[in-house]
Amino acid sequence: MVHHSVCPLCSSEKISLQFKCNDFFISHKDFAIFKCSACDFLFTQDYPEENEIAEFYKSDNYISHSDTSEGFSNKLYRIARSIMLRKKKELIRKITALKKGTILDIGSGTGYFADTMKNSGWLAKGIEINEKARKFSISHFGLEIATPDKISSFEANGFDCITLWHVFEHFHDPFNYISEIYRLLKPGAVCVIALPNCKSYDAEHYKEYWAAWDVPRHLWHFNPATFRLFSEKTGFIFEDLRVLPLDVFYISQLSEKYKGSSMPFLKGIINAIVFAAMSVFKKRRSSSIIYILRKSSD
Ligand SMILES: [Zn+2]
Repeated sequence: MVHHSVCPLCSSEKISLQFKCNDFFISHKDFAIFKCSACDFLFTQDYPEENEIAEFYKSDNYISHSDTSEGFSNKLYRIARSIMLRKKKELIRKITALKKGTILDIGSGTGYFADTMKNSGWLAKGIEINEKARKFSISHFGLEIATPDKISSFEANGFDCITLWHVFEHFHDPFNYISEIYRLLKPGAVCVIALPNCKSYDAEHYKEYWAAWDVPRHLWHFNPATFRLFSEKTGFIFEDLRVLPLDVFYISQLSEKYKGSSMPFLKGIINAIVFAAMSVFKKRRSSSIIYILRKSSD
């Protein structure tokens, strides 16, 4: 069990229990969310060690059901995925100002994003811990996907861009990991980190049922202010933030399900439309945020 006696972000001793929430997804155990009153950072407290956490991940869920099954929700999922893949590709091309380059997708899952980049001319590599997902992305897309322990053998200054789509919140050692990412990037290159936003309208509404607490898999619960504070400790330049507009639909439906709602799909969609509309004017309250960090060019 990992216990924090000081804030993992600012080292203050002013940390206390904010609330408890349940692992609705797999173990149905309760975990504590702690808050630091000095810097406002929220984190999961007393979570399993890295070598004990595997039982809290259901590996079968990594291989997407949507490629093999039919049905309305799978069709919707496939449409949403292809929209998001295109948006992500456009974002990468814009912020790197490159049509082609080298990219590393950390937590590449089944490889759809890395494959999208490869198909538009990029040299795309991935890192994925899950064996089934890794094998699928190699056999299905012919991608080059390494296990996480190989990251230290990657050459320094080798990538124009490194992406982490909803994976950084899972890392036991985010400070060491971010320095490794820094090492792998070329001077002036960018790191793109997508994270749930615990200051979002949907988090405020669903409270302990908010699906993106996802304890004990999510260890760190960032918001734009605390992520900026984190980035200041990394050597990166905090360049910008963007939103991932479709995540709120998935999160709201799942949160309705966790609440025991009678019509989770419908209620989730209706609420998500409201949250998405509200966050058009306040993107810092959006369900998911993409942080763009740049390595200095000298
Ligand atoms: Zn703190």
